[in-house]
Amino acid sequence: MGKILVIGAGGVSSVAVHKMAQLIAAGSGPFSEIILASRTLSKCDAIAESVRQRTGVAISTAQIDADDVPALTALIEREKPVLVVNLALPYQDLPIMDACLATGTDYLDTANYEPRDEAKFEYKWQWDYQDRFKDAGIMALLGSGFDPGVTSVFTCWLKKHHFDRIDTLDILDCNGGDHGQHFATNFNPEINIREVTANSRHWENGEWVEGPPLTHKQTFDFEAVGPKNMYQMYHEEIESLKTHLPEIQRIRFWMTFGDAYLTHLEVLQNVGMTRIDPVMYEGREIIPLQFLKAVLPEPASLGETTKGNTNIGVIATGVKDGVQKTLYVKNICSHEAAFEETGNQGVSYTTGVPAMIGAAMMVSGEWRGQGVFNMEEFDPDPFMAMLNEHGLPWTLEELEGPLPF
Ligand code: NDP
Repeated sequence: MGKILVIGAGGVSSVAVHKMAQLIAAGSGPFSEIILASRTLSKCDAIAESVRQRTGVAISTAQIDADDVPALTALIEREKPVLVVNLALPYQDLPIMDACLATGTDYLDTANYEPRDEAKFEYKWQWDYQDRFKDAGIMALLGSGFDPGVTSVFTCWLKKHHFDRIDTLDILDCNGGDHGQHFATNFNPEINIREVTANSRHWENGEWVEGPPLTHKQTFDFEAVGPKNMYQMYHEEIESLKTHLPEIQRIRFWMTFGDAYLTHLEVLQNVGMTRIDPVMYEGREIIPLQFLKAVLPEPASLGETTKGNTNIGVIATGVKDGVQKTLYVKNICSHEAAFEETGNQGVSYTTGVPAMIGAAMMVSGEWRGQGVFNMEEFDPDPFMAMLNEHGLPWTLEELEGPLPF
């Protein structure tokens, strides 16, 4: 049993905290207490109130700027959690890891570190903490969301139970939800737009293959959604999967986008609103993308209006007992059901539930180690079981062959 400190009070945090509180209310599971801290205290208090109403569990709240390592270190020393769950933004990964090192506390996040001034998605900054975490005898679990996160667990589970060797892997992320807005993103707009406007990149035959953003597309018929255009793009689990499962010859990531989303994005890019370098405005520097975020709907506010399903999974082709086969594991999540249960839409739900499960794996001791780890490095079975029990059930089917190119 352990006390958890959750940092950040957006949609993902709200779901993770509701799910942790459900376990506390049921008297099952490894969490004893939750403290929720973020930059804006009122958002923590609003989540705490919703958790109290829905589960009867009281959680405490605190104000913290997680970029301020001494202040965060003092908060961790005062509260003495067994684990810090970072559900703020990727910019906070390194300061929070520093505070965990200073206090000897375990760490978990859902997205890899990004420098503010460069849309560069790489694990190298966090993997550099490996020796320091090991020497301190503590553990960091990186990327315990859906993608990255569950997609890696799905891949390891397929490898463990159904393949001697995986040759190709496609990760398919479809959000078939409609939020009724002209343009909005389903998680933090700044992070989402940086990701979508980056060059596409996939792993093939031992090297990166790079191309312009959102150029290579194909149509896929997603169960519970229907046919959608999906676009190949870079996503961070490609880097950790090719590192930990080097047998896979080709790893690609696909995400669906509607035509209206892409048209808005193109206009915003063309007029310079997605720039991440500073521009002078009325005598002060502003970052256009940060200004854009301020005028777009908050992802956490989309829950009430979003209808439809998400459908995220992996398609792996490989060999078992000398026979080639293609298997597809996926989860379908209803936005309306996610909102009914936690007050948040499905994209926050599909990320917050695996964050809770990753925390449970660490605190219960099912997943243990000293150093910095990705999801592929642990036994997928207990994680897969908890997905089924806690709102993200998955299915397995055999396909006729791999995705065409
Ligand atoms: P939101 O923008 O809704 O929430 C982020 C929260 O972090 C806000 O409460 C914000 O505070 C807080 N925050 C920002 N900076 C600081 C700081 N310096 N100190 C303390 N708190 C801070 O984002 P989401 O909930 O949508 O996403 C959360 C994380 O989940 C992101 O890192 C995102 O990349 C990741 N994610 C991962 C996915 C996956 O599948 N792996 C999918 C979707 C998201 P304030 O309210 O004051 O701005």
